[in-house]
Amino acid sequence: MTEFAFEGAKRSSTTISWSFQNQNFASDAFTPFSGSLSVMYQSVVVAAFARWSSVSGLKFNQVLDSISVPIRIGFGSFAQFGQLGETDYRSFRGVLSNDTLIRLLDPANSPLLYESGQLTYVQFGVTLYQVVLHEIGHTLGLDHTTDPDTIMYPYATPFTQDLGAGDIQGINTLYPLYTVSLANPAQAEGATGQTSAYTYVVTRYSDPSVALTIGYSVSSAAYPAVTGSVGAVASEFPGTAFPRGTLTFAPGSYIATLTVNVAGNALAQPDQGFRLNLTSLNPSDSVTVNGTVNAVILDDDGYGQVNGASLGVYRFFGVADGTHFYSTSQTERNTLIQTRPDLVYEGVGLKALASPGTDPAAAPVFRFFDVHNGTHFYSASTNERDTILATRPDLRFEGTAFYEHTTARPGDAPVYRFFDIKDGTHFYTSSATERATILASRADLRDEGIGFYAPT
Ligand SMILES: [Zn+2]
Repeated sequence: MTEFAFEGAKRSSTTISWSFQNQNFASDAFTPFSGSLSVMYQSVVVAAFARWSSVSGLKFNQVLDSISVPIRIGFGSFAQFGQLGETDYRSFRGVLSNDTLIRLLDPANSPLLYESGQLTYVQFGVTLYQVVLHEIGHTLGLDHTTDPDTIMYPYATPFTQDLGAGDIQGINTLYPLYTVSLANPAQAEGATGQTSAYTYVVTRYSDPSVALTIGYSVSSAAYPAVTGSVGAVASEFPGTAFPRGTLTFAPGSYIATLTVNVAGNALAQPDQGFRLNLTSLNPSDSVTVNGTVNAVILDDDGYGQVNGASLGVYRFFGVADGTHFYSTSQTERNTLIQTRPDLVYEGVGLKALASPGTDPAAAPVFRFFDVHNGTHFYSASTNERDTILATRPDLRFEGTAFYEHTTARPGDAPVYRFFDIKDGTHFYTSSATERATILASRADLRDEGIGFYAPT
């Protein structure tokens, strides 16, 4: 029994356009359409394309009818009694050409009526949906099977109204689809001599009964979720080379695991992003990969921290409550990136003093934790701190977060403070542009002027 078979040609892309035929071209004359599908029939076709898409890496775009649409669908009349549909395609060197026609038996020839809520060729007890699923299978390169549980079985019966396991394996063998999951896409780099392991679980959707080997490679990539990150360099990996190789799925297994190691060092570098790429070893296969393929190496050697007399303050945005969190601890920053998806890392927001020393203008910025809503409150005012300590048991004092200047020193930039009237927190920014945007658009943030002065 054959659960799937191929016609010997496939689409050149995994994104495929199709249309409802509403005009006849000279080339249609060989396999003429007898009519166009009205709206009541069209929704069945849309659903059938969506069904194929849901089990594969293929995307289908409905477009306006023209001679250049790869797949055109309309009604037809067939000489052979009992024929419910036909797909006419041509191919060249293994690629299906972009002039495939699907014709569905015209209801003028055999009534197409609602039966159990499904448009059905009542004469045969076969739904329009299953006929369309079958014909779409042909347009993608699937041939007939000998398995009556598949939609590609040549004889439509009332018992196979949906795609079968063989159809799903067939389409995903023809157009390889993989899903990648990565439990910890953001990891601290580690010390010299150590490695950090990024373990990917790769799932295949093609026939699991056979062994399958595919290729993989790691490349430099952006990681937008960590502001300030750059593409990784080869020296971040063991052997000073981007990892590459092959990955094998054992017979009977849908999954294979792959570990990419990152080599630790002691260099203060920006956070570095990379991505995992999967490739078929058969050059003509287009591979579709879903899931988490991007990862980031978090610096743990002090990048953005002490730079001369200034210290970077890492900033996070809390998506749940719209507040900001600031920390000068790179370890805390790395932990939050790894464990708090609700906190979006925004990079080094402002600078602080590396050391208060004996600087007469240096003042601590105090940090409080709001036990009710988990937000933080910051203040550079000793008076404000003391008032809070005396009157606000709901704000837990966490000590000095960092040091800033209370009066401007040479090279300082003002840090603007806003009061969030919704939750009583403060927002700080040293960016004049950000301040202007807030003043123009955020009535809920009250301008409190300059909170302190920060080194630049
Ligand atoms: Zn067929």
